[in-house]
Amino acid sequence: MTTKEIRNGFLDFFAGKGHQVVPSAPIVVKNDPTLMFTNAGMNQFKDIFLGEAAVKYPRVADTQRCLRVSGKHNDLEEVGIDTYHHTMFEMLGNWSFGDYFKEDAIAWSWELLTKVYGINENQIYVTVFQGDEKEGLPKDQEAYDFWKKWIAEDRILLGNKKDNFWEMGDTGPCGPCSEIHVDCRPDEERAAVDGKTLVNADHPQVIEIWNNVFMQFNRLKDGSLQTLPAQHVDTGMGLERLVRILQGKSSNYDTDVFQPLISFISKESDIPYHQGESVAKTDIAMRVMSDHIRAIAFAIADGQLPSNVKAGYVIRRILRRAVRYAYSFLEFKDPFINKLVPILAEQFDGVFPELKAQQDFVQKVILEEEISFLRTLAAGIQRFEKYSSTDQVVEGNFAFELYDTFGFPIDLTDLMARENGMTVDMEGFSKALEAQKARSRAATVVDTSDWINVNPGDSNEFVGYDLSDAPAQILKYRKI
Ligand code: ATP
Ligand code: MG
Ligand code: MG
Ligand code: MG
Repeated sequence: MTTKEIRNGFLDFFAGKGHQVVPSAPIVVKNDPTLMFTNAGMNQFKDIFLGEAAVKYPRVADTQRCLRVSGKHNDLEEVGIDTYHHTMFEMLGNWSFGDYFKEDAIAWSWELLTKVYGINENQIYVTVFQGDEKEGLPKDQEAYDFWKKWIAEDRILLGNKKDNFWEMGDTGPCGPCSEIHVDCRPDEERAAVDGKTLVNADHPQVIEIWNNVFMQFNRLKDGSLQTLPAQHVDTGMGLERLVRILQGKSSNYDTDVFQPLISFISKESDIPYHQGESVAKTDIAMRVMSDHIRAIAFAIADGQLPSNVKAGYVIRRILRRAVRYAYSFLEFKDPFINKLVPILAEQFDGVFPELKAQQDFVQKVILEEEISFLRTLAAGIQRFEKYSSTDQVVEGNFAFELYDTFGFPIDLTDLMARENGMTVDMEGFSKALEAQKARSRAATVVDTSDWINVNPGDSNEFVGYDLSDAPAQILKYRKI
């Protein structure tokens, strides 16, 4: 099955169960001070869960483009090192807004995975919330009993609050969740250790693929729980992980999601890519680049240009990280990352058409960014290589020099330090940065925003760039 078929399989299955299929929300979040980027399918339905928006369809399904690079969910450091955490990924989701609850959600998860996708039942484990007495949270016995109808009890594991209880914040809607894990170890290995290594924290080939959240309670200010009058289901399944399992691969990067990008990188660099969990630097570099381009391209297509502040700086950091991997490990001394955009636009044609519609612009923005960083990258790397410290700690002032003079985001310096068995004096760096901010605050009071408002009449909705004036926009972004 191709990724396209797998994605459509999910949407068709839930459409067949009375769900309205809706489009993905943009990956860039506006007007929510608590969130920069969409990090879960439920984000766009937050107001429904808070009881602040009307329910248009009681059953909804979609594939949501998500980014986990900041805040509560930050998977950036895992990317390229493990084989299943990405910066940008698609989260397939089905929702019930006050309609069906645990029984149907569980039965349908099982039906989809085992009957439609044909995953071997013996490879599936599920987790259920064990309860937390101290917090006054009950065990999710209902979910446990509904799972028991489908799966042997020794495959239903109890999990703690961290993994199996979801809450939006200190107050508000919350509830237990039930995760589904698939054990992809080879049959003989699985048979030998069956029942011992069970969830993805324990073994890189036992992968969490799906989370079913049951919004059941409302947490009040005094900490007590009230049962919600309307109970909801909120699920999220990582498409790239599902594809890996259905295509029988031992890494998400070996699937048709990433292979077109990796093959191109491998061909252009003339360096082979080794499949699976290879830890060769060149392989990690290819994984990182093929991952990061997706985050960068979709963020730009959805309205977030790279810049020096807030969400724009998150994107710039990811881009610079990719450029440096390309430069240091694959010998790409000229701009290269931007050349991946057409491949990506082709892959997502008809899925997220926003990218193809703005392909040239997105590519141009990335090219400009690459040109600008490549101007200082080599000198910065040289400076870093000459730097020596007796205690294996990169001083804050030196990290600041790399940041200020050579444009090295601090996480890039930290990454390079770790590659060389060193650490960074983060506190010293923050002090140097603060001192600089104080100096520039005194020098200027001009406030720059990292948003380009292309449609002032309707500032809630990003509708795409006005390409008729593209050079001016690029100029503006370079000035920031
Ligand atoms: P993990 O424990 O593997 O970090 P999670 O528990 O943080 O995953 P959830 O918040 O439950 O993930 O999100 C629902 C689903 O989204 C997960 O079951 C997984 O399939 C997928 N997912 C989560 N984070 C990522 C990521 N960084 N890259 C790819 N898929 C992801
Ligand atoms: Mg996680
Ligand atoms: Mg998890
Ligand atoms: Mg989870």
